[in-house]
Amino acid sequence: MDIQEFEKWGKYVVEWITQYYRNIETYPVRPNVSPKEILRKLPEEPPLFGEDFQKILNDFKDIIVPGITHWQHPRFFAYFPANTSFPSILGEFLTSAIAPQCMVWLTSPAATELEERVMDWLRQMIGISDEFVGVIQDTASTSTLVSILTAREKHSDYSINESGFDNVKFTVYCSREAHSSIEKAVKIAGIGRKNLRKIPVDDNYAMRVDLLEKQIEFDIQNGLVPLCVVGALGTTGSTAVDPLGEIGVVAKQYGLWYHIDGAMVGSALILPEFTQFREWVNSADTFVFNPHKWLFTNFDCSAYFVKDKEALLKTFEITPEYLKTDADEQVNNYRDWGIQLGRRFRALKLWFVIRTFGVEGLKTRLSSHIKWAKLLEEKIREDNRFEILAPVNFNTVCFRCKFEGKTDEQVEFLNKKLLDAINASGIAFFSHTKLNGKFTIRFSIGQTNTNWQHIYQTWQFIQSKTSEIIENVEKEEI
Ligand SMILES: *Cc1c(COP(=O)(O)O)cnc(C)c1O
Repeated sequence: MDIQEFEKWGKYVVEWITQYYRNIETYPVRPNVSPKEILRKLPEEPPLFGEDFQKILNDFKDIIVPGITHWQHPRFFAYFPANTSFPSILGEFLTSAIAPQCMVWLTSPAATELEERVMDWLRQMIGISDEFVGVIQDTASTSTLVSILTAREKHSDYSINESGFDNVKFTVYCSREAHSSIEKAVKIAGIGRKNLRKIPVDDNYAMRVDLLEKQIEFDIQNGLVPLCVVGALGTTGSTAVDPLGEIGVVAKQYGLWYHIDGAMVGSALILPEFTQFREWVNSADTFVFNPHKWLFTNFDCSAYFVKDKEALLKTFEITPEYLKTDADEQVNNYRDWGIQLGRRFRALKLWFVIRTFGVEGLKTRLSSHIKWAKLLEEKIREDNRFEILAPVNFNTVCFRCKFEGKTDEQVEFLNKKLLDAINASGIAFFSHTKLNGKFTIRFSIGQTNTNWQHIYQTWQFIQSKTSEIIENVEKEEI
């Protein structure tokens, strides 16, 4: 493709994106495809000679788009938001055009310094202590791994990096509702899955601190070395918040490293009402949240904050002492702040987003999502065929249809049937979890272009599907 062709197709692609967003509500949120259907439409062998770009784009429209799950659809209510916005798309455009490597200051000074600046903007926006410094990681999973590795190295005086494990057996703590990325991190860090203690939760799905302390005592008595506790600021299942202040006290008392996973909910800290959470985060060593979930910045962009920068750098740096220069004292070389050497220029889209929306604009969006979740909760409670299964703390409503008079098994079966019917319609998309053994439908609100009408109409659709299922149940006497 030469530059004239690039100019032509560049305009075409922007036009396609514009039409995509104009018409996005006409797409089924979840595609109606079966496994391998797309794969079979793709040639088994790569083309030997270059193809016409028009033909490639036609295949994109005919084969790829019909197999896409539309995360930016305003009736996408599954999992969690992974929202984007027009300034973010344009930022990503420019990043891919400039295509710099942002591993050290010299390989792109502006990228490094913009990252330093926007991460401090973010820190101020969420109102946490200036003891924290921030860096962009690819995902919350990576951030949590980086945190646990830093804890491991600091605790062992950086000896495990040097000579591997000797006999020490570390333990790590999180709640039973904590995200699977913690288990993954514990496996990768060489600590061992069996040494992850999943502490039981209370009725609100938050960690029982009394049981955390008991478990730590028990492990110490058995010769194990408690290393780190991970608190959840918003579990993935129900957005439960662990008693993060109390966990901080326990962590301090037993000398544990303290990481807080706020992957989705952390964005809500930009709102003034969450003062308490800010104080709790300030008691942690590290904190992560994802602007790529609920802050209109397209994947990937995970904001990782750490207090002990020295410990982080000593864990990850690869520059031998004799190669250090005076400039290193003044600048950040982000290759030493995490796992990757090569790094994308992710600060640009975040900068575009923050400046285009403004902090107040971002706050307005998030508080609307939270307000609508509460309103939806009220609507669900008004229909006594349904029940709410967890506190609505932020933007996620956990509910199910009661199907009164049916056995637990039948209730699960029928709720699954309801969920499948809604998802198959293409009108909206939901995912489920299990809370206290109960099959739970999650209504997660956070897409950039969702408004109350999308939510309310979808709720009415759920009600009518439920009526259909109840009628059929009565007919077939399930
Ligand atoms: C989504 C989520 C994660 C994982 O985020 P990635 O950025 O995809 O790794 C971790 N923890 C919680 C609580 C989450 O909701």
